[in-house]
Order: sequence, then C-alpha cells, then structure tokens
Amino acid sequence: MTGIFFEVRNLVKYFGVLTAVDDISFKVGRGEIFGLIGPNGSGKTTIFNLISNHTPVSSGSIYFEGRDITGMKTHRISRMGIARTFQVVKPIKGMTVLENVMAAAFSAADSRREAMKGALKTLEFCDLLHRKEVLAYNLPIGERKRLEIGRSLATRPRLLLLDEMSSGLNPGELESAIDLIGRIRETGVSIIIVEHVMKVIMTLSDRIHVLNLGRTLMEGTPGEVTGNPAVIKAYLGGANADD
Ligand code: ADP
Ligand code: MG
Repeated sequence: MTGIFFEVRNLVKYFGVLTAVDDISFKVGRGEIFGLIGPNGSGKTTIFNLISNHTPVSSGSIYFEGRDITGMKTHRISRMGIARTFQVVKPIKGMTVLENVMAAAFSAADSRREAMKGALKTLEFCDLLHRKEVLAYNLPIGERKRLEIGRSLATRPRLLLLDEMSSGLNPGELESAIDLIGRIRETGVSIIIVEHVMKVIMTLSDRIHVLNLGRTLMEGTPGEVTGNPAVIKAYLGGANADD
C-alpha cells in the first residue's frame, strides 16, 4: 500500500436486493482532484457514505495514507484527515456562520482560542468573513455551500469529499465555487468531487471515474471521458445530463 494516497478496492454496497455500488475500485493521488460522475442514482453519494462510514460497506476495502480504514468509526476517519460535505447542506440551526465553522474547528484544535483562530482563517479563505455574525440558516444558497466547504475545511483534512457543491448555484456563484475548489487544491488538499455540472468537473478534475447503475463505465482524463460513446449514451439515454 505504500505510496498510494487513497484507494477503494472492490467496493460493494447492497440495499436489500439493490446493488447500489457494484465492485468499484479507484485510486486518488496526493494533491489530485478526482471527479466521480454518473447519472442520478448511479451510487456516487453512497460511495461517499461508505468512505466516511456513514453507511457500512457490504464488502471491499478503503485505504488512506497506507492504512486500511474500512469499518473505522466516522469521527475517527474525520480525525485521520478525511472530511466531506453533504449533498443537502445543513448548517446548525440557531448558530451564526462563525459558530458553525468553530463547531467543526474544535475537532482539530486544542482550545477555544485556537478553534476561533482556525475558524476565522477558514472563513476568510472561503470569502465569508464579512458574514460571520449572520445566522447560517439565513445565508443564500451560494454562501451556504461555501459555508459547508468551510465547515469541512475547518477540520483540516488532507482529503476532501465534495458532494454536488454546484447544484442550485447561479453562474456567478458557480465561478466562485470553482475558484474556491482550485484554491483548496493549491493548499495541498486532495479532493474527490461528485458533480453533475459538467463545467465544474471538466475544469477541475485531473481524472474522472464514470459510474452507471453502480458500476464503473470508464476512468480517464476529462478529454477521454467527453469523447467516450458509452459515457454519452449513459447520460443521454437515461437520466438528465443537466448542463
Ligand atoms: P447518486 O448519488 O449517484 O445519485 P446514490 O448513491 O444516492 O446515487 O444512490 C444509489 C442507489 O442507491 C439509488 O438507487 C438509491 O435509491 C439507492 N439508495 C441510496 N441510499 C439508500 C438507502 N439508504 N436505502 C436504500 N436505497 C438507497
Ligand atoms: Mg448523490
């Protein structure tokens, strides 16, 4: 396992008779942005749930920085350096933007002072410092998505899992999201992005893994993926390609 930053090997997840994730394997290198795409219901969010162990695997293994993390408790995986966002962002009700990020920062800090310092730095990085006293619930969707990224960054991950960060964003918000994700990569954090806004995936990803109905359709560079007839068919044949 030495040298490989992150890997899932032969991952399988059954929900009753449904095989939501069907023998999926891929590797992500340090500093890489790895795209995970596929029509609705193809298993993308489930793969994130398996990695963070919000859902137990049926079989298969997950490795991070040379260690087998399969079956580890969710909070331990987070402390090891893997953070994730959720498709439906859910800031903590009744808390300000700053308090939301501080709550996350505590997991990587030794004191309140340090958590505050980390949270403020994260807010500045996510261009939300001017909103720190606002109740998180009142933020418009674009800022709410950046807050969700901020909350995950505040735990100081080395691998970040981003689930549909672009859905519902207008073109201006989309540009800020792309800019933010690019800047996160520059800090050395590796990223797996699940996304159906093609522009985001194609602009940012080094490599892309394409799923369909829980199975691997192909893996390649953005150029290889867009030129592949099977990918075009999966998108045009079944679910919406959206953009
Ligand atoms: P995606 O994120 O690619 O749209 P999901 O991973 O959410 O797809 O879902 C993959 C498949 O697994 C879908 O058919 C979905 O209905 C099913 N599924 C997801 N979570 C559950 C669950 N907790 N119980 C039963 N079926 C589920
Ligand atoms: Mg999903």
